[in-house]
Amino acid sequence: MICPNSHIAAMAPYALADLEPPQGKRLISLAQNESAISPSPLAIKAGEQALAGAQLYPDPEWCELRASIAQVHNISAQNILCGAGSMEIIASLVQCYASPDTHVLSSQYGYAFFCSASLVVGAPYDQAPEDDMTVSVDALLGTVHSSTSVVFIANPGNPTGTRINRADIVRLREELDDQILLVVDEAYGEFAEAPNEPIFDLVERGNVVVLRTFSKAYGLAGARVGWGLFPPGIAREVRKVLNPNNISCASQAMAVAAMMDQAHMHHICAETTSRRNQFTADLRQFGLTIPESHTNFVLIRFEDAVTAQRADHALRAEGVFMRGMAGYGLPQCLRATIGEEKDMNFTRDVLKKWFNVENSK
Ligand SMILES: *Cc1c(COP(=O)(O)O)cnc(C)c1O
Repeated sequence: MICPNSHIAAMAPYALADLEPPQGKRLISLAQNESAISPSPLAIKAGEQALAGAQLYPDPEWCELRASIAQVHNISAQNILCGAGSMEIIASLVQCYASPDTHVLSSQYGYAFFCSASLVVGAPYDQAPEDDMTVSVDALLGTVHSSTSVVFIANPGNPTGTRINRADIVRLREELDDQILLVVDEAYGEFAEAPNEPIFDLVERGNVVVLRTFSKAYGLAGARVGWGLFPPGIAREVRKVLNPNNISCASQAMAVAAMMDQAHMHHICAETTSRRNQFTADLRQFGLTIPESHTNFVLIRFEDAVTAQRADHALRAEGVFMRGMAGYGLPQCLRATIGEEKDMNFTRDVLKKWFNVENSK
């Protein structure tokens, strides 16, 4: 018998979305926080053109991509690393800075991949309580201990959609021990740009990493491109762990063109935000609770776990797949990505009908 390492054998498989619609129903997937809007047409064209050079390995230094990111964000290209999605960067950071003897800390509803990446290296994963489904700096500071080596926060958060201010992040950094690495995952940062003050300058402190992705606001989840701004010493270590040829030539070309088409990204964010606000207002009218979201999804809270499960069944019967949240300790919640406008209206109508039947029992 071939035996895996015991800490891998002990892990559950990563919980992927279940997306099998009933026979005869069209799938409406609201389960994976993908953009309902296609990537920039310029990105599609650039990707097609890059395919002709696919006999060569892609640029291992992501030169054009880093230059385009640096230009748009007014940061130094030198300190940017790119990953096959920000997930690759998260995993590499954990490989470099956590171990069975050093703990990773995040918050109660922290992004599930922070935990899986920690378990892969056998690092204990601690969680600080949240306050009203929002990251609590005080709780993080109260949970950190002498073995904590990395703190991860997603801001805005997934699956909550809530966010904390720059001032809160600065306070977290200042009150944490200087030897602890703080990673701020801004996968949804572009959706929160209006209230969000940039935090890239915090990286200069030498112990902060800021992560972004092309998967959400740029509509490029299938291209697998993420990036981060790093202190030079940390970039050097993480680079050793990343796959040296991690992002395909087509994906790099798509990401460059997408970054240079900021108007399209703003269009995706504005359109998604407007649909989200309408969907939220509609659902709140039925008495459902939804925390204020700064992302491309909403977290819908039902009365209890059984009610959420009944709603989920009613939705699935019509082909609408949201994401169950039992894995996050939120069995009374479903997370719904903001999709096409007609699909959101359909989803609202399915829920409304279900609600009327539910309340007439
Ligand atoms: C979607 C998401 C990511 C992005 O992962 P990619 O690998 O870049 O697709 C990272 N962090 C959070 C919190 C997310 O929700």
